[in-house]
Amino acid sequence: MPELAVVGAGIAGLAAARRLVERAPAGTVVHVFEANARAGGAIRSEITAGVVLEAGPDSLLTRKPAAVELCRALGLADELIGPAPGARGADIFWAGRLHPIPPGLMAGVPSRPETLWRSGLLSWSAKLRALADLWRPPKPTEPDASLGELLAYRFGPQVVDRLVAPLLAGIYAGDIRTLSLKATFPQLAAWQDQYGSLIRAARRQPPPAGHRGPPFLTLRTGLERMVRVLVEKTSATWHFGEPVRRVVPEGGGFRLETDRGRYAVDGLVLATPAPRTREMLGEAVPEAGALLAEIPYTDLAVVGLLFRPAAFSPPRDKTGVLVPAGQGLALTAVTFVGSKWAYPEPPPYEAVRVFLGRAGDAGLLEHDDDALVARARAELERVLGVRAEPETARVFRHPAGMPQYRVGHLDRVARLEQVLARWPQLRLAGQAYHGVGIPDNVADGHRAADAVLAAVGAAVPVALGTRGDGA
Ligand SMILES: Cc1cc2nc3c(=O)[nH]c(=O)nc-3n(C[C@H](O)[C@H](O)[C@H](O)COP(=O)(O)OP(=O)(O)OC[C@H]3O[C@@H](n4cnc5c(N)ncnc54)[C@H](O)[C@@H]3O)c2cc1C
Repeated sequence: MPELAVVGAGIAGLAAARRLVERAPAGTVVHVFEANARAGGAIRSEITAGVVLEAGPDSLLTRKPAAVELCRALGLADELIGPAPGARGADIFWAGRLHPIPPGLMAGVPSRPETLWRSGLLSWSAKLRALADLWRPPKPTEPDASLGELLAYRFGPQVVDRLVAPLLAGIYAGDIRTLSLKATFPQLAAWQDQYGSLIRAARRQPPPAGHRGPPFLTLRTGLERMVRVLVEKTSATWHFGEPVRRVVPEGGGFRLETDRGRYAVDGLVLATPAPRTREMLGEAVPEAGALLAEIPYTDLAVVGLLFRPAAFSPPRDKTGVLVPAGQGLALTAVTFVGSKWAYPEPPPYEAVRVFLGRAGDAGLLEHDDDALVARARAELERVLGVRAEPETARVFRHPAGMPQYRVGHLDRVARLEQVLARWPQLRLAGQAYHGVGIPDNVADGHRAADAVLAAVGAAVPVALGTRGDGA
C-alpha cells in the first residue's frame, strides 16, 4: 500500500488530505504534517461573548463553488449564512471624507460610468477621462501586463488609485501597478481584444450561468468550524506541531525530515507558503528554490475590537470602509462584522476588524500588540471619528500573509511546475500559485491530490457524477 503525505494543514492541505483519504485504496496511510499545534493556517475564528471575530478570512465567494460545496459535503449547509439584508457595501475614505463606492464595478471596470458623475471621489476631469476607454485603442498585454497600468491606460490614474486599488487591496493586499493581469483578471485582456473598450465589454457580459443567491457566504460560528470538521472527518495520521524541515527525492519517492524523525513516502503534496516550501525543497532542487524565492509576500495584521453598542454602533447599511494608499494610513480596510453578516441573533458587542499592512510597507509586524492596537484605534478615529474605548482588543498577525502575484506570475509558476515535472508524485498547492482565496485553494488541493494519486497509481475509479467539486 502506498504511503502519502501532505505538508501544511491550511485549507489547501486539508482539502488535499481529505481527497487523498477519500480516493486512495483502503489501507493507504496519509500523513499530514503541520508546523502549528492547530490546523487552518490563515483561517482562525475566535468567539467572545457570542461574537465571531475572524483572524483572517471571513467570506466564501460563491461564484467559485469549491469552498461552499466542501462545507455542504461536511454537513455544514445549515450553518452557512449570507450578507445582512440591509448591507449596501463599503465606503472609501479619501481626502478626509467617506465616499460610497459607485455601483457597477466589474473586475475593476466601471461598467456604469454614469454612476461616477455623482461621486465625490473623482475630479471632473477624471470622470471625463474614464470615458476615454470608449475610444482608446487596445494596449498590448502580451505576454503579461500590470493590472493597474492597463486600467490606468483605459480609465485614467484616479479611477485606479481611488476606486479600483482599494477594492482589490482587500483581495490581494498588493500594489495594483505590479499585480499581474493574467493572474488576477485575465478576462480583461480578452475583453480588450474583442471589444476595444472595457466598459462596452463589461456591459455585454451575461450574468454568471447557473449562479443564484448571495455573492458571499460565511459560517455562523466562524470559518474555523470548517477546518475543525475537516480534521475530525478525515482519517489521516496527523502530525501537529511537527514542521517538515527537508524534503529529499529518494528511491522513486521522498524522504521527509522533521525534528522527530524521517518518513519515506511515495506521494506528496506540499501545501505550504512559498518561502517555507523553498526552505524544505530548495536544497534538493535548487532550480525550484530559485523560482519559489521570486514569489514575494506582504505582512498583514488584523486588529479585532469589540465595542459595547452604546459606545459605538456602525451604520447597518455599510459593511465597512476601504482606504486607498497615499492617505498616510497603515489601515487598508475596516469591517463592521455585525453589519456585514446576517447573524441569527444580533451580536451583544459590535465587532470591528481593522486591517493593517500594504505591499511594500515593511516593518509592520515589528511592533508589539499594544502598538498595533494603538495604531488601529488612532487610525479608526481619523477615518470614522471613533474615540470609544473597546471592551476587548485582539491582534492577529499574518507574517508573509499574502503572496504577491507580480507581472509574469503564471509564467513563473509554470516554470516551477516544469522543474518539478521530474517528480509527478510531488505536487504544490495553496495560495502561492493558482489563486488567492479559499475556493481556489480548495480546488487546488483537490487537483494536487488527484495528480499525486494518478502518479502513484493509487487512484480508485470514481463513479461518474460524484466528482463535481467545483474545481
Ligand atoms: C487577513 C486575511 C484575510 C483574508 N480574507 C479572505 C476572505 O475573506 N476570503 C477568502 O476566500 N480568502 C481570504 N484570504 C485568503 C485565504 O485566507 C488564503 O487564500 C488561504 O487561507 C490560504 O490557504 P493555504 O492552505 O494556501 O495556506 P495557509 O493558510 O498559509 O496554510 C499553510 C500551512 O502550512 C503550515 N506550514 C508552514 N511551514 C510548514 C512546514 N515546514 N511544515 C509543516 N507545515 C508548515 C502553516 O503553519 C499553515 O498552517 C485572506 C487572507 C488573509 C491573510
